[in-house]
Amino acid sequence: GLGLTASALALSLVACGSDEPAAGGSGGEAKKIALLLPESKTTRYEALDRPLFTEALKAACANCELIYSNADQDAAKQQQQAEAALTQGANVLVLDPVDGKAAAAVVAAAKGQSVPVIAYDRFIENADYYVSFENEAVGKLQAQTLVDTLKAAGKTSGNLAMINGSPTDPNAADFKKGAHSVLDSSGFKIAAEFDTPDWSPDKAQAWMEGQLSAIKNGLVGVYAANDGTAGGAIAALKGGGVTPLPPVTGQDSELAAIQRIVAGDQAMTIYKAVKPQAEAAAKGAVALANGDKPESTTDKNGVPSTILDPVAVTKANIKDTVVKDNIYKVSDICTAS
Ligand code: BGC
Repeated sequence: GLGLTASALALSLVACGSDEPAAGGSGGEAKKIALLLPESKTTRYEALDRPLFTEALKAACANCELIYSNADQDAAKQQQQAEAALTQGANVLVLDPVDGKAAAAVVAAAKGQSVPVIAYDRFIENADYYVSFENEAVGKLQAQTLVDTLKAAGKTSGNLAMINGSPTDPNAADFKKGAHSVLDSSGFKIAAEFDTPDWSPDKAQAWMEGQLSAIKNGLVGVYAANDGTAGGAIAALKGGGVTPLPPVTGQDSELAAIQRIVAGDQAMTIYKAVKPQAEAAAKGAVALANGDKPESTTDKNGVPSTILDPVAVTKANIKDTVVKDNIYKVSDICTAS
């Protein structure tokens, strides 16, 4: 009833990355893929995930349509955005949940309409596919680099402050677990620890400011779970007159963080290659839209998964990581001040 000849149908299926007719025989229609990202204070989402996913979706499916929204760290807003996407006829939801547990309601609503859900970066129970990084390894790399930096400076004891991510983000628990597995037996003392609501850099800064009078003297290092919270911590340390600055960790290789590393204000960050992540998610979305199974290499809690490797970045390997992969040019990093 679509009025397509067999060869036209075959052609449009090839364009959509599938060589088999889709379930229900609707493979020739344009598919709608919804990408639902969690926030915009962390720069990766608007600077990398969104454009790279858009590009990867175009490459995987010539006639797919992208529905995009960003929840600005508001779980209720994200639920409305997901419902709006379903109302608009989304065939697949690619969801990076603000709140991993609350996302169960989105999965239930989507399943009720036979719409598959991809858990993007943050895990969701009962999703159809999960694409992320080895998140416990992220925490281990952050903590190990912090300990190595301290030891290289001749320090074997002293106070650490730990600034973790949002309690509603399942990744934050993994980063924290990985970090504790290194720090708890490192000889350093975790003098104060904070789970940052919403991953808010401002809240991380306010917490660090509030801790300074108590722990400033013996403070030798700060574990911050990502670059946004690292930026908040560093601003608090500078504002509190802590000199020299203790080493501070981070994650995401945000441009500001790479610049702080070059300037010596931040010890390290994590590079997670968003391009292969976005590509795996886009290909997976097209497969699911066509009734096929996404390619996966492992599974997590029964969800077929693709899990990528994070890399620690210090001053020593900026060129071999984010510059080599064309995330930044040297001229982006080294602006005249
Ligand atoms: C992501 C990190 C990001 C953080 C805050 C985590 O789930 O994996 O890359 O820094 O959320 O948005």
